[in-house]
Order: sequence, then C-alpha cells, then structure tokens
Amino acid sequence: MTAAVMRLLTALSLFLLLALGVDDAMLRAQEPDPVDPPEVVEGEIPPGPPCRTCSRRGVKECSGHGRGLLELEQSPTTVQCSFAAECRKCGGALVVDCNRCEHELAEQAAAARRELAQEWLAARKARFDKMVDEPSEVGYLRTPHAELVFSLGPLTVGRSKMGTHELMHLYGQRIEDLRQRFVEVFELREDEFPPEPETPPEANDENTADPRLRIHMFAELKDQNAVAPQVTGIGTRGPSVKLMGTTLVWSMGHDKKLMRGDEDVWRSMVHNLSHLLMSGAEPVAWIGNRAHGWVDEGVAHWFEYHLVDERCANFCFEEVGVAPGSNWKNGEWKLGIRQIAEQGALMSFVDLMDKNSDQLDMIAHAHAFAWVDFLIATQGGRKFADFLQRLKKQEATRDAMQATFGFGPLQFDERFSTWVKETYPLQKGR
Ligand SMILES: [Zn+2]
Ligand SMILES: [Zn+2]
Ligand SMILES: [Zn+2]
Ligand SMILES: [Zn+2]
Repeated sequence: MTAAVMRLLTALSLFLLLALGVDDAMLRAQEPDPVDPPEVVEGEIPPGPPCRTCSRRGVKECSGHGRGLLELEQSPTTVQCSFAAECRKCGGALVVDCNRCEHELAEQAAAARRELAQEWLAARKARFDKMVDEPSEVGYLRTPHAELVFSLGPLTVGRSKMGTHELMHLYGQRIEDLRQRFVEVFELREDEFPPEPETPPEANDENTADPRLRIHMFAELKDQNAVAPQVTGIGTRGPSVKLMGTTLVWSMGHDKKLMRGDEDVWRSMVHNLSHLLMSGAEPVAWIGNRAHGWVDEGVAHWFEYHLVDERCANFCFEEVGVAPGSNWKNGEWKLGIRQIAEQGALMSFVDLMDKNSDQLDMIAHAHAFAWVDFLIATQGGRKFADFLQRLKKQEATRDAMQATFGFGPLQFDERFSTWVKETYPLQKGR
C-alpha cells in the first residue's frame, strides 16, 4: 500500500470508530498524537499545543480557597461545603476554566458540579436561614453519611486555633471516623443500615428509616433553642437534644459551662452520635427507653473512651440531671470499677439490666461502660452486635445473652468481676 492509501484508510477507520460511538479518549490511547509532548498523554487530554496553566485539562484549580483549604474541599469526606459553594470564582466546582484551552467534557463536569453545589446550598439556606440569628455565621457541610449545620468556633485544637470553616471540616472528618470505627468494631455490613432514601433528609417522612446523620452544632445557645425543637420535633430544651430510631438527629449548642473547649465538644459528639448509630442500625429502634439503658449508655461511653482520650465524662445532660463539671473518678472509670471490684462492692447486673437510660446514675453509667467493655473484649464486637439485634427485636435479655454469649444474667457478675481484676488498673496511669 502506498502511504497515501494508508492515510486514507486510517482516516476512514477513524471516521467509522467515531460513527460507532467509540469515545475519543480511547482512540487517543491507541494513537497518541505525535505533536503532543510526553507529559500530556493522559486519557482525557485533547491533542493540541501544550498549556502551562492547565496541562491541557481545560480547567485549573480554583485559587479562591485559602491556604490548605482546597485540600479539605477535595477530601473524600467532603461531598459539599457551603464555604466552597460560596466561592466567587468557582461556585463550588473547585476548578475554573483555562481560557487558553477548550475541553468541553471538563467544562461540562465543572458546570454540573457548580450547579449541584448551588442547589444544595440554596436548599440548606432555605431551611435554616430563618431559624438562626446570624445566617452568615452558619456553615453547612455534607459528608458521605452526614449533613452538618455548624457555627462553632474559633476553638483551640491541639496547638492551633481554628475558625468555623476549618473546624466544620474537622468535625465532618470526626463524624466519618466515628461511623467507620462503629462499623469496624461491630463488624457490621453496610446493608445492616437502612438504604438512603432519594429525598433530601428534611423531606423524608418520619416513618421511613433514614441512615443519614443530621447534625447541628451551634456556638450560640439561642440558635440551639430555636433550631432543636424544629429539627427534632421534640419540645425538650437544653444544650443537647437528639432524636433516635428511624430519623437520626442531634442538635447542640456550645454551653461553655458544660463543655469548655474542643475536647469536651468532641466527646459529647462521639457519645451522642454513638447513640444515633446504634439506634439507626437494623433493626432500627432505640432501646434506651425499652429497659436496656445499660447497653445504650455503655456503648456510647465505650466509643467516648476509645475515640477521644481514654476517659469518660459525658452523661447525656438531657437525660440525667448531673451537675455541670461533676464526674466520677475524674473520668478514670476503669480505675474506679477496679477499686470497687477489690472491695467486692460491684453493682449486680440483674439489678440494673432492666432499667432505662434515664434511670441510671453516674456509677451505674460507669458499670454500663465496663460491662460493654467486658463483652466486646471477651466475646468480640460481632457477637455484641448480634446481641443488640436480638434486644432490638424485643427478645428478653436472658434469652439474647444465652443465645449469643452462652451464659445468662445470673452468671454475669462473677465472670465480670474476675475479668476486671485481671485487666483493669488498680492505680492511676497503669
Ligand atoms: Zn490550558
Ligand atoms: Zn469547606
Ligand atoms: Zn473556588
Ligand atoms: Zn448517653
């Protein structure tokens, strides 16, 4: 064949392939354009002269997001962020057009992302702007499993002082970390949570189980007092209000007498969201008011202890009338339980096992934590999850225990006491 015929055939086959709908990225992968410099062979890059601004991607990173913030917006735990959506340059697309290059697909993708961000933000603002005092101070974040409404800050975290935007991303990350840990500890499958409804969370009716965590964290108590009743439908007032079961909502206001800084707020969040996650896993139900308060509180304290700082301090202020700042053994519950075990004065499981969450006092909370700790450590998280599922299906504690752990409530105390003496510290810091 002559060179001219070859060229004609190539052109023909190209035409045919295009007519057959083969995407042009595939073609380029087969036949790299000889004029392209080597650094632009990546699949989606159209042939053409090199571009230093965008490497021929057609779009470049938006420069409208302060130092370090673009990484937060691009992180897998950020689905939408109001601060990003409000960016004047990109409107939440996180990229802007390169005016030297044309790349229709990239431009369309950016436009679609911008539109999604704007729609989402408009819906959030439509719902919350009228509830809060200063709408401009409230941020919104969507993560893979949560919708967060947030105005905390500035707060000191470790050594750095964080403003509302950065803190909101930190809390978004902490929410996702907690959920991940929850799933891992109990060895849950994703299908052990209800499927996510198509509708936005607020449009969903109360009878349809919705696994999304709706979280509201306010710097001002007046915002909490205005928002909490509307998002939970519960008349209760207070710095922390939650709704569990089919609909998972937590709303809090930063009461600085109860929660001094970031660590206290974080602890409170871990505790409360553990309640939400526990009730929101299948079969969906809150068992704290069904005579299984020790399981409900014990698990929440267990995550507090393991995720925050190996102390327990949150008492669900909304449930138990505990004086602010008071705690048992300064949060060193393992130590306290060991000391009681040495005195032979542990509370009896049978006496507490049928109480609701709001019937447990501080020392009962410490026992509940240690009982859950004992069961997870000696039986494994998956068995504990099976036990929890049986309780949610309204099986009696006695039967559920026997079926999952192979012993009943009457054998509990002796096993527990022996384990505590073998594993819990007798002195501080050991
Ligand atoms: Zn360019
Ligand atoms: Zn952001
Ligand atoms: Zn931007
Ligand atoms: Zn609690």
